[in-house]
Amino acid sequence: MSIEDSLGRPLRDLRISITDRCNFRCTYCMPRENFGPDHTFLAKQEILSYEEMTTVVQSLLPLGLKKVRITGGEPLMRKDLGIFIAMLRSLDAEIDIALTTNGVLLKKHARQLFDSGLNRVTVSIDAMDVEMFQSITDSKNTPGEVFAGIETAQQCGLRVKVNCVVKKGLNEEQIVPLVDACSSRNIPIRFIEFMDVGTTNNWNLESVVSGEEMRQRISNHYGPLRRNTAKHPSDVARMWSLKNGTEVGFIESVSSPFCGDCSRARLSAHGSMYTCLFSEKGFDIRGILRFGASSQEVAELIQNIWTKRDDRYSEIRGQVNTERQPVEMSFIGG
Ligand code: SAM
Ligand code: SF4
Ligand code: SF4
Repeated sequence: MSIEDSLGRPLRDLRISITDRCNFRCTYCMPRENFGPDHTFLAKQEILSYEEMTTVVQSLLPLGLKKVRITGGEPLMRKDLGIFIAMLRSLDAEIDIALTTNGVLLKKHARQLFDSGLNRVTVSIDAMDVEMFQSITDSKNTPGEVFAGIETAQQCGLRVKVNCVVKKGLNEEQIVPLVDACSSRNIPIRFIEFMDVGTTNNWNLESVVSGEEMRQRISNHYGPLRRNTAKHPSDVARMWSLKNGTEVGFIESVSSPFCGDCSRARLSAHGSMYTCLFSEKGFDIRGILRFGASSQEVAELIQNIWTKRDDRYSEIRGQVNTERQPVEMSFIGG
C-alpha cells in the first residue's frame, strides 16, 4: 500500500535529523553569530532515541517508504550510529539507507557503518582550497581530511556522492577544482543552488548561482555537457555527464523547482515531522511515541498528516509572505 498527499505525491523518502549539533559552523547554515556558545541545543532527553526513530521508520514501511536518509546537524557527531543503522536494516533488507555528512569523521566510522547495513554516503564539501574551506566551514579542518574519509568509504564498498552548495561571490571559483577532484576519483558530484532555508543565513536572490550558470562555467572548461535521463521522477538532482563520463548533477530548487515529484518527509531530532524543507512548523510525533504508541498508531498519525499535505514552497517562492519563519536546515536536516 502507498499513501498520497493532496497533490497525489507518495511518501517514499524519510530524512531523519539525528542531532541538531555540528562540528562545523558553515556560514550559510549555522553561522557562529547565531550558533555560538550561547546557543541552546536540544537536551539529550528531548532528542528521539534510536528505538523511537526506528518505530517511525517501521510505521512507514507498509505505507510505501523506500529510502531513509540520516542527516543533521552532523550525524557522525551522535554516538553509536552503527547501532541505529543495524536497527533500520533489521526492519527491511531492501530499504535504501543513506547518510549525509560533512565527511570529517567518515574515515573513522565508514567501515562500521557499512558493516551495519548503510548503502550510500553523500559528502558535502564546498571548496578544495584550504583557506576557503576553513572560512566557509568556520573550522580548522581541511578538504584533505574529507577526501580521506571519502576514500575509506569507497574502499569499504559504500557508494559515494559529493554535494556542493554554490553561493555567489563565495565559491564559484571552486566548481572546476571540485569537479576535477571528483572526476579523478570517479565520484558523481552535485551542485546545489543556495536556498532560503531558515532565518539566519542572510539569503537573497542575488546570492544564488543558478544551475544554468554553473553548467556554463563547467562547459567552458570541459566542453559541452550531455543531459542524462532521470532514473526516478523524485530524484532531486538533474544529471549531466562530462565527455569523460563523470556525472555532474544540479539541484536547482530556486531556478527550476521540483515540488511536483517531492515525496520527502523530514523527522527532526526532537521528533516533529515536517512535510517541506521550508515549513514553519512540524507535527509532533514524539508525544505519542512516548505514550507508548505502536507502529500501527504512528502510521495512522503520519497518514493523517501526509494526506493533507499541499506544500510546494519552491514553486510559489515569489508569492509567499516574506515574514515567514522557516525552521533551520541544521534542525530538520538537509
Ligand atoms: N552536516 C551534514 C552535511 O553538511 O552534509 C548534514 C546536514 S547539512 C544541513 C545537509 C546539506 O544541506 C549539506 O549538503 C549542506 O551543504 C546543505 N545546505 C545547508 N544549508 C543550505 C542552504 N541554505 N542552501 C542549500 N543547501 C544547504
Ligand atoms: Fe554543519 Fe552540515 Fe550545516 Fe555545515 S551544512 S553547518 S556541516 S549541518
Ligand atoms: Fe519538496 Fe518543499 Fe522542496 Fe517543494 S519546496 S521540493 S515541497 S521540500
